[in-house]
Amino acid sequence: MNTSVVTPVPDTEPVVAALVDALGDAVVTDPDRMLAYRRDQSLLTPAGMPLALVRARDTDDVVATLTIAHRHGIPVVTRGAGTGLAGAANALDGGIVLSVEKMNAIVEIDTESRTATVQPGVINGDLAAAAAERGLWYVPDPGSRAVSTIGGNLATNAGGTCCAKYGVTADHVARIKAVLADGRIIHTGAVTRKNVAGLNLTQLLVGSEGTLAVIVEATVRLRAAATAAATVVASFPETAQAVAAVLAIREQAEPCLVELMDRTTIAAVNDMTHMGLDDTAGALLLVQCDGRDAAAEAQVSARACTAAGATEVYDTADPVEGEEFMAARRVALTALERCGSTLLDDLAVPVPRLPEMLAAIEAIAARHELLIGTFGHAADGNLHPTIVFDAADEVVARRARQAFDEMVAECLALGGSISGEHGIGVLKQPYLETQVGTVERALMQRIKAAFDPSGILNPGRGI
Ligand SMILES: Cc1cc2nc3c(=O)[nH]c(=O)nc-3n(C[C@H](O)[C@H](O)[C@H](O)COP(=O)(O)OP(=O)(O)OC[C@H]3O[C@@H](n4cnc5c(N)ncnc54)[C@H](O)[C@@H]3O)c2cc1C
Repeated sequence: MNTSVVTPVPDTEPVVAALVDALGDAVVTDPDRMLAYRRDQSLLTPAGMPLALVRARDTDDVVATLTIAHRHGIPVVTRGAGTGLAGAANALDGGIVLSVEKMNAIVEIDTESRTATVQPGVINGDLAAAAAERGLWYVPDPGSRAVSTIGGNLATNAGGTCCAKYGVTADHVARIKAVLADGRIIHTGAVTRKNVAGLNLTQLLVGSEGTLAVIVEATVRLRAAATAAATVVASFPETAQAVAAVLAIREQAEPCLVELMDRTTIAAVNDMTHMGLDDTAGALLLVQCDGRDAAAEAQVSARACTAAGATEVYDTADPVEGEEFMAARRVALTALERCGSTLLDDLAVPVPRLPEMLAAIEAIAARHELLIGTFGHAADGNLHPTIVFDAADEVVARRARQAFDEMVAECLALGGSISGEHGIGVLKQPYLETQVGTVERALMQRIKAAFDPSGILNPGRGI
């Protein structure tokens, strides 16, 4: 596979000179120092060699970078922590990588309006911890929350574990300050709960994968601190039984999360953590209920698991123990990555279609003689089937890619979405038009052109 994107660029010397002149030592051109900024965490996605890395310290640095890039027609890839899984933050040959990781100040936490205003490089977990100190809760909790940034979370509309009950990143943002491709600053949204003034530019920026503007500040909404959750862990001989339990639970309760791990994932997590999860199980469900009715809802969920054929059901009201089980789920991807190269998918199907999607994944794995570990946010119908293979073996790598294509096709056939939370990046580009339609995609591209007429912001990604 071609691992380099070649973008024709004009003479680069004046560009670097202008960047250094305006930004001094925020500019890095040493190829060795730029290496760590070339890729996100996806595999099999192309990454180029940038002409410069800018490590922006403030909004002025972002404005200066974009003004120069715009004047010279140089592509700019904005980068948070680089934990993306779709290749959206991968560098382009001859482009600029604009890192905002140093813009990591929590500007204000307003306990009265229950909002936090942050720079884009703030780590999700740091914001959550700062909010918790004030008795508040920043809800979005992607598995990468210990390292990924609020800017990256907004730009990918990151999900997490408790979306079925509390929504995704888009549901927790009030205002955004961003820099357009030509260096102009815009402010979108309002702190008020209700706001119907004009088109919703905030929600256009959310999930735009760095293609419309660079987010330099955001005001996000906080909730009152979460009540302690009651946790249920259930193991099932087959994934189909676990999914039957998910459907039954949804009818009787509103858990804040329902996470699923299949046999392959359980084994990988046990290997890595020695947690002693039930290794005879074909699937494991992790259910958490919060709020006033947490204990009662957990009981209902436990009974639904037993009725669906669970062989072991364990419940606990101890939040520490609950968090230990969650920790097992959070390391699922890392655990699978220890077993070989991984090609991680991110498919969302209507929850009632989960049984068909899981059966299709198992059939595809068998047909291509591949190991696929599946875990995910069952309450959202959002699965991460992860192909574990030897990337050095070209024949096997081709089979992995074929299996990936087939899983995406099956998801679309079931009325699903090709990405529930990781975004399109470059990885999912080939499938986008099939899902959204030709006219609709052209409309998206015209919207991009309105924001970024010279097309310098993350060209070829997202839309
Ligand atoms: C172990 C692991 C677990 C994960 N779990 C989850 C999960 O549960 N849910 C989930 O949704 N994702 C998950 N992810 C994927 C990833 O962490 C998210 O997509 C995250 O939101 C990316 O944040 P980042 O700071 O790393 O952004 P990056 O990877 O640096 O960038 C991602 C995209 O955002 C753009 N971008 C970044 N900052 C800005 C900005 N300030 N302005 C404009 N554009 C910007 C980039 O150009 C790129 O298009 C996981 C990843 C890993 C490695």
